[in-house]
Amino acid sequence: MNRTRFSFSERDLLPDADAGVLKLQALDGERSSGLALGLGITDDCNLKCPFCYYRQDGSPGKHAAMTPEFLERLLAGLGRVGVIMVGLEGEPLCHPDFGTMMEICSRHADSTVLITNGLLLSPDKVRVLNELRVSSVILSCDAVTPETYARLRPGGSLERFSENAKYLAAMCHARISVHSVVSDINWPELRAMPGFARSLGISCLSMTQLRNNEWSRLNGIRRASPAVIREFTAAVCREAEKCGTVIAFDYLYTPPGDRDWMRETVADFRSAEADLSPSCAAPWTGVSVLSDGRVFPCCGDIEPVMPESLTFDGIFNCKALLKLRQMLSGREVPEVCRKCLSGGQP
Ligand code: SF4
Repeated sequence: MNRTRFSFSERDLLPDADAGVLKLQALDGERSSGLALGLGITDDCNLKCPFCYYRQDGSPGKHAAMTPEFLERLLAGLGRVGVIMVGLEGEPLCHPDFGTMMEICSRHADSTVLITNGLLLSPDKVRVLNELRVSSVILSCDAVTPETYARLRPGGSLERFSENAKYLAAMCHARISVHSVVSDINWPELRAMPGFARSLGISCLSMTQLRNNEWSRLNGIRRASPAVIREFTAAVCREAEKCGTVIAFDYLYTPPGDRDWMRETVADFRSAEADLSPSCAAPWTGVSVLSDGRVFPCCGDIEPVMPESLTFDGIFNCKALLKLRQMLSGREVPEVCRKCLSGGQP
């Protein structure tokens, strides 16, 4: 993975005495830590999206798949977690043992969430999701016309997505939602996403803005301008209200300088909400592990690191997370976080 390569050097990392106060506590027995664990179970993907944050070098990846044995060891070391979110890095439905991996996750977490492009869903896979009581399925879709879908999701088709999404909405007991990445390419048509999702039987949407990255730049896809985002946000909220669709804008949708207008905008709509927390809580609420076993400290621009051990401390209190917690506890927002919160702008 070629991120923006922010990484901590050993010199930056904390001495043990300081680290203690920043540690999250492991719980004994069957009590849940309440923490979130993201999992990339494979870096294989059936698509080659031109804005993919995980493929900034345009490579096809390492075709790495986490094994069920590794996952059992990892989760046994962590204790019970609040939620496991399967679907970073690659397409989880490409994993050859998808059902086994989800079954292991469901035994170790209070709830499980699947994030997928939806194109490889089948009645068998939906049956697995129901049997395991997966609590939520998030479908990634950033277009409502076949042309834009083909541009943003090469290798996929909007027709197939729509068929699968309709089937999922009708047959799966989990909460189903559509997640879209807004960019300068798709914002005009994403105003119609609430009605499109409704036509599939889905009434929950979430949105984020594109994070500028080398791969998206190379492919001519950029963030929409702040003025466009304001116009778009009000329009899509109006549409959501009209269609009876709930719409949520995530933490990274609104850069820090835009929080006031965002607060005013969503206040006008009963069905819209935005995460406008004053500071990033990611390093205190969870962490992710990628298919090759590396820890990805947050959803930002930090290089993944190899864990020191497959234990609660090795994952939820790894040195990179302790450092991030220390930096975010200070007066100044660290540079890596400033860049992350502004969507990858230097
Ligand atoms: S880089 Fe900083 S702001 Fe971004 S997700 Fe990580 S901790 Fe949060």
